[in-house]
Amino acid sequence: MKPTIYLVFVDDWELRGNGSGDVRELQFKPMRELTSLYQEFGVRGSFNAEVMQQIVFRQNQEKHPELRELADEWEHHVRETYRQGHDVQLHVHPQWSDAELVDGKWRLTSDWSILNYSLADARKLLFAGKSYLETLLRAVDPEYRCVSFRSGSWCIAPSPHILSLLVELDIVFDMSIVAGVRYDTRNIKLDYTQCEEDFLPFYPVMTDARRVSTKVEPLICVPTNCFYASRGYIFQRQMNKVRQRLFSETQSINASPSAPAYGAEWEQVGGSKLGRIYERAIKPYVSGQHYISDLAQLNYPLLSEMLTSIRERARKSGLSEVPVILENHTKDVKDFSDIKRFLSDVSRSSDIKCLTLTELASKLSSGAFSIRTASH
Ligand SMILES: [Zn+2]
Repeated sequence: MKPTIYLVFVDDWELRGNGSGDVRELQFKPMRELTSLYQEFGVRGSFNAEVMQQIVFRQNQEKHPELRELADEWEHHVRETYRQGHDVQLHVHPQWSDAELVDGKWRLTSDWSILNYSLADARKLLFAGKSYLETLLRAVDPEYRCVSFRSGSWCIAPSPHILSLLVELDIVFDMSIVAGVRYDTRNIKLDYTQCEEDFLPFYPVMTDARRVSTKVEPLICVPTNCFYASRGYIFQRQMNKVRQRLFSETQSINASPSAPAYGAEWEQVGGSKLGRIYERAIKPYVSGQHYISDLAQLNYPLLSEMLTSIRERARKSGLSEVPVILENHTKDVKDFSDIKRFLSDVSRSSDIKCLTLTELASKLSSGAFSIRTASH
């Protein structure tokens, strides 16, 4: 029997990790564009609103009145989006704590990973974020509550206290595990290459969400989806790159001046040069190219491969209903046409339904979806 797939369209809605970027260009405009596409195809999406940034804007609005205007617009967009039936949930980038505005630019000097904060400091940050969002959205719906969490830069494991802190916050599930990623950058060090569950909801070992617990726990993890592109696709992509390189010899390419600085934040620093070449050029042919299911980073052929992989894995799970969390970063979307084609495919597929994060939380709580433990 063909399983029913419940797709959750999630978007991490925020400025760039180093605090750069124009809020109107990177957040407000693409949010309006995306919600109007959702409207067109009858999809209700979910936005993980990065709240620390907004709190810092509010803290600095007396000194910088332009920040008050932007913070008001931020609230307006969040409330309107929620009013339209989309969901808004909690996302926190701790590097915004103690941020300073110097000559019109944000200086973010705090640690990027919530895992490096003491329990008391992490508790303060997360409670502040949750309470800001709940106060804002209860004006629209008194029943609103934060039920899910996505940690900034995926930082959730291992940690002696972060999952218990989420329980304290009344969070139903976390979606920060994305199997297969490994970051060794100047800001983030994490290794999710050995996750025990990369597709289905599961109960985590409370000190290490990369592992599946042998028993029911007070918190659920739902991995953010990832997949491996086919060899055919990788070969095609290499050929296109060669073609582009030949073409660019006769063309001058004007890279955006802000692009290199942004990219540098995510440059891998660890390991040998040879190791990095292997990761980039050889490994994709051996074990397939790993992709996070991040719509902003995928073209239409990859989005289709992603869907094929999801269907295949849902079928192999033997379950009749499987929830899958997709990712997006509207700040990185230059052109919505591939996402539009994908939404159109989804809306015409009889085996796919769409859920918001809040709906997913209530289905998980009511037992509508199976949640894995290590014993079966
Ligand atoms: Zn983020």
